[in-house]
Amino acid sequence: MKIFDYSDLAVEGVRKLEPYTPGKPIDELERDYGVQNSIKLASNENPLGASPKAIEAMRAHLDDTWLYPDANGYHLKQAIAEKHGLPTSTITLGNGSNDVLVFLAQIFLRPGLESVFSQYCFAVYPIATQMVGAKACVAPALPEDHPMPFGHDLRAMFERVTNNTRMVFLANPNNPTGTWLEAARVKDFIGSLPPHVICVVDEAYTEYAEGDRLGDASTWLDEFPNLVVTRTFSKAYGLAGLRIGYALSNPGIADLMNRVRPAFNVNSLALVAAEAALGDDAFIQQSRKLNRDGLQQLRDGLQALGLVTVPSAANFVLVRMGQPADVINEALLQRGIIVRPVANYGLDDALRITVGTNAQNQRLLDALADILKQ
Ligand SMILES: *Cc1c(COP(=O)(O)O)cnc(C)c1O
Repeated sequence: MKIFDYSDLAVEGVRKLEPYTPGKPIDELERDYGVQNSIKLASNENPLGASPKAIEAMRAHLDDTWLYPDANGYHLKQAIAEKHGLPTSTITLGNGSNDVLVFLAQIFLRPGLESVFSQYCFAVYPIATQMVGAKACVAPALPEDHPMPFGHDLRAMFERVTNNTRMVFLANPNNPTGTWLEAARVKDFIGSLPPHVICVVDEAYTEYAEGDRLGDASTWLDEFPNLVVTRTFSKAYGLAGLRIGYALSNPGIADLMNRVRPAFNVNSLALVAAEAALGDDAFIQQSRKLNRDGLQQLRDGLQALGLVTVPSAANFVLVRMGQPADVINEALLQRGIIVRPVANYGLDDALRITVGTNAQNQRLLDALADILKQ
């Protein structure tokens, strides 16, 4: 069809927007490269699949899909409220946590206002900011010789807060770096922000972070009314394809999010699956153990190949190839292995590798060894 260019009519924020670059789906790789038995270590999905309890719950509710979902997600909210020891009035459900990040931008940002985030951060923060025409203020990341190379520099972020700042985004642990911040530092940072700044703490990978060094920002909601914590079922719970996540905030902010939220943004299977997954502790424990072992395996294997890895508290590792990573990425694709190039994040010598099963990790390491010796 002849393409008409409507970009002149689009609002300015949208005209300048670059779409999100997702990890390549297995199906697409196999079509494009004519390979089989491919593996995907690109989108931080759980190699164990979905929580079995979630699958069982969905099966039991397949026949109900002709009905609109419960727009208020009553049962899931009850389960989330119980998990966090918070009232349901603090919860906003999203079609993935991406959804709630966009609600926040729609509510608090507009042209003339600003958001602050770190140089190497989740791509959705700049997208949500630009979409509504607000200005993105990017804080330089920690230097590469820091113990948390490329991680969030809270001081640099604080320095970018002005009278026009309305939101600060930080992810703990961070994607695409895997780096993390100690709870006490995050808490001090939030406490130092002026009241007109909403602080979003994105805890998408928190289930993988071992010990309590990162804390649980949702326990600080009473103290900081300007805090919003986001969680997702896409990562450790293994429900990325269902698109479900949530925000925890002061009820005053939840009320605003509920106004912009599309009426039925979370589907009925996602509601029952997420509720069941929350009750599946054994699955989370198993996922954490597999991840702990897999991270070690990848780190050791990559280092044995002479590569430098960035510390990670998540289910992926950022590895520096010491050369432009696109050539190596291409060679991996030809061997049926999908990882994530991060040049779009400004890290062109690095690859982000999701922790897979023991066998998948080994296949990746063997392939890299083979590619690097050529
Ligand atoms: C994967 C990820 C999310 C989760 O996105 P969903 O929309 O919930 O799938 C949120 N934040 C970060 C930093 C992520 O990496």
